[in-house]
This record gives sequence, C-alpha cells and structure tokens, in this order.
Amino acid sequence: MSSTTTASAVTVTEPGDRSVLQVREQPVAPPGSGEVQVEVAAAGVNFIDVYKRQGVYPVQTPFVLGEEGAGTVTAVGDGVDGLAVGDRVAWCMAGGSMATVVNQPASALVPVPDGIGLELAAAAMLQGLTAHYLVTSTHEVKAGETALVHAAAGGVGQLLVQMVTARGATVVATAGTDEKLEIARRLGAQHLVNYSETDDLAAAVRQVAPDGVDVVFDGVGRSTFDASLASLRPRGLMVLFGGASGQVPPFDLQRLNGAGSLFVTRPTLAHYIADRAEYEWRAREVLGALADGSLTLEVGGRYPLDRAADAYAALEGRESTGKLVLVPGA
Ligand code: NDP
Repeated sequence: MSSTTTASAVTVTEPGDRSVLQVREQPVAPPGSGEVQVEVAAAGVNFIDVYKRQGVYPVQTPFVLGEEGAGTVTAVGDGVDGLAVGDRVAWCMAGGSMATVVNQPASALVPVPDGIGLELAAAAMLQGLTAHYLVTSTHEVKAGETALVHAAAGGVGQLLVQMVTARGATVVATAGTDEKLEIARRLGAQHLVNYSETDDLAAAVRQVAPDGVDVVFDGVGRSTFDASLASLRPRGLMVLFGGASGQVPPFDLQRLNGAGSLFVTRPTLAHYIADRAEYEWRAREVLGALADGSLTLEVGGRYPLDRAADAYAALEGRESTGKLVLVPGA
C-alpha cells in the first residue's frame, strides 16, 4: 500500500502575469479510486496554461499548472484495469502536470509505445492531438487542397504543416521571421509569407493562391482573423483554434455572406478526445508516427520546474519554435 508522498509543483498563486508562478512542495495522497500515480518525466508548455494563469479561462487558485505530460506509473488505485507499476504513460487535457509526482484519472492516460522517449511523448500529446483532429475531423484535408497555416514554426504549426502535406495538400505558411519560415519550408510548406513584413496579408496569400485557400488553420487569432477570412475561397472554412495574439472580438455573421458563404468554426481539443476510443486512436497515430519517423517534433527548449516563468516568457514573447517542455529532473 503506498503512502502520502511530497511533490514539487509549479503553482499559480493568483491570476496574473508570470510572477504569480511559484514552485511549492505539496503532499500527494495515494491514488484514489480510478486514479494512477505517476512520476512525471516531462510536462508540456502550452498556451492554454497562459489563458488559465491569466484568468482568461477562470480556475480557482491556487492550482498546479500543466495540461499534459508523460511519466512512469508508481502506484495504481482501486478499480483501475490494464495499468501497472512501471508502465510508461502520457496524457493531455488533464491538469496539475507540472509536478514531480501527480495523480491522474486512469481514463486520461494512454500508453507510450516502444521507440519513443517519455520527453517526446509529453511534448507531442496536446499539440499533436490538436493538429491531428484539425486535419482529420474539423476539416478532413484532402489531396489537391490548399491550407493556410499561421504561426507555422510554432508547436501546433510545425505539426500541422507536416500533417497537411502528408495528406497531399499544399501549405501556405506564415510566421513572424524568415528564420521561422525556413523551418516551415523544411517541413514541407510550399509557400511562405512573413506576416511581420506585409501590410496586406490576404493579398500576399492570394499572390500564391489566387482563388483563395480551402481552409485556414488560425491559432493566432486577433491579429490574423480578418486576413484569414479574406484569404478563403468561396465556401471555404475558417478554423479559429486559438488566440496567441489575443482573442478575436465579437463578429458580425453577415460578413460570412459577403466574403463568399464562408464557414467558421472554433474547435477545442477536449471535444475531439472525449470519446475514449477516439482519444486512443489519435494518440496511437501521433505517437506511432513519431516512433516510426514519419512525423518529427522539435523540442525547442527544456526547463527545470523552477524556470517555468522563463519558458512562458519565450512562448508568450514569440521567441520559441517547436515545443517547450518542463523536465522535473533537469
Ligand atoms: P506556438 O508555439 O504556436 O506559439 C504561438 C505563436 O503564435 C508564436 O510563436 C508566434 O509565432 C505567433 N504569434 C503571433 N502573434 C503573437 C503574439 N502577439 N503573441 C504571441 N504569439 C504570437 O503556440 P502553441 O503551438 O502552443 O499554440 C498555438 C495556438 O494553438 C494557440 O493559440 C493555442 O491556444 C492554440 N491551441 C488550441 C487548441 C485547441 O484545441 N483549440 C489546442 C492547443 C493549442 P510568429 O512569431 O511566427 O508569429
């Protein structure tokens, strides 16, 4: 029978800027019914953590940050089947991940296949499953289509570029620097637009896609939304999946008529992994593709828990490329 242990955990003490982050020591009880205790190998750094820390998505404080991770099972609670001490597991959309030890519901965990390290698995879950549902289910990308992918050198962006091109479609990639665009090009993007250097983003997109693109994957939000709409072909789909530059303000639906009978959706990962079989399918495909080398993921930075604020400074300051992870043992 396991006993209460102590964990170091990145804690949000009150809503606010990065200064509210503290590493605190806290007791962790043995896993309850339906739970599993995991020694965390790595936890992913995501924009959703920023929204929660700032209070954009309200969460009662104090709370432990982090929505994804991977590690090794150290104890199993009552009523859990199919998991044992020593198993390698990963999860996403399950809170409290930025800690040395965490109890997670067994239903949030998926197995990490052989051939992939725990750090890479942690890095891949939230952004990887996001890119996966966007190209398979929000819009099933087909060969011959053209997709506009914003922030293409970012975490979700790099994965989107690869998944869209793997399906035989063309990517028009945007990013804020030429160095970032070069990353997108290496991953398969055929057309590159530096949106920091153009006053008319939609016109720049239409230079390479004169009829407009079939779909826009836009996680940047406020600063790109209007140009995204103006880049679509008639009856094209606008997928607004985040607001790295700020949330998009209220929007007059009548604009969709004038712009070409457009579609807009604002999807979120939770609704695309709520079904257990769907969650396992997405995780299996993403982790399997990383294991067999058909998908690559750049870990753009590794930080110990007490440098979490530095990781978020890089993410929020547009300095990061690829995925940032916190590594408790670093
Ligand atoms: P990224 O690694 O993509 O980082 C964000 C990027 O956005 C930056 O690198 C930057 O790239 C670009 N950007 C443009 N303007 C700004 C700005 N003012 N401030 C900060 N960044 C800006 O982050 P993630 O991959 O973690 O997330 C990307 C988006 O996906 C986020 O909006 C996130 O909320 C969303 N998301 C949505 C999910 C969902 O299910 N709906 C799930 C997971 C993530 P550049 O310098 O090239 O412009």
